[in-house]
Amino acid sequence: MTSNLSLYPVGIEEDIIIKIRDVNPHIICSLCFGYFIDATSIVECLHTFCKKCIVKHLQVSKLCPTCNVKAHETQPLLNLRADRTLQDIVYKLVPGLFENEELRREEFYKARGMLMKKQKEGEENLGPKVTTVFNNMNAHSYKFDEQICLCLEKHGSQHIELPFMTYKLRSLEKKFVRCPIRVLVSHLLAVIRKKLDVPNCINVQMLCCNLVLDEDMTMKQIYLMHWYDKPSPMLLFYRLEKSCG
Ligand SMILES: [Zn+2]
Ligand SMILES: [Zn+2]
Repeated sequence: MTSNLSLYPVGIEEDIIIKIRDVNPHIICSLCFGYFIDATSIVECLHTFCKKCIVKHLQVSKLCPTCNVKAHETQPLLNLRADRTLQDIVYKLVPGLFENEELRREEFYKARGMLMKKQKEGEENLGPKVTTVFNNMNAHSYKFDEQICLCLEKHGSQHIELPFMTYKLRSLEKKFVRCPIRVLVSHLLAVIRKKLDVPNCINVQMLCCNLVLDEDMTMKQIYLMHWYDKPSPMLLFYRLEKSCG
């Protein structure tokens, strides 16, 4: 691939141009020559492969395909670790890879007659429900989804005068949330509205790094655009906007 890619690190005005072919050796699996899918490293030597590729390799050999170090005396699979950070970098650098992989996984489960949780028969595809995650911090209802930790903070103190009352923005009781990366801003806003009894005539906006977020952005997109080099949890703010007189 020869296309150029520009990244915009936080606080740096100039574009940094990176040639993807310079990065390729670090994000390509030496077993299948594709970009890493479920990047997985051998603990002993930290060489990385696709999870599927290295698991398959270790069924016939105990040695790292790159450096021949012994992955483990008896059970090499015990010495594999998922490298989420590297996988996120791959998704950021290779546009469309994440979406294609998501699609491939959905087709995989469909072909085997297994529905992913969000697609119950006869139900419209509305995406994962955030409420279940809000109510149960240990919920793992989306086994095939990556999860992301969020901190939802109010954006300063705000109150809006309405004809019959003054609405004052409160903090959420549970501001730390774990949810699937597919969750949309609109899902979070709906939950926030409900938890904080926001009247219909007041809009709620969500922000990350002082930018107002589009309602149909997923947590994954926000993370990749604004948060992938920052520590967890990803900090999101909500604020009020009066929409009627
Ligand atoms: Zn591979
Ligand atoms: Zn190795």
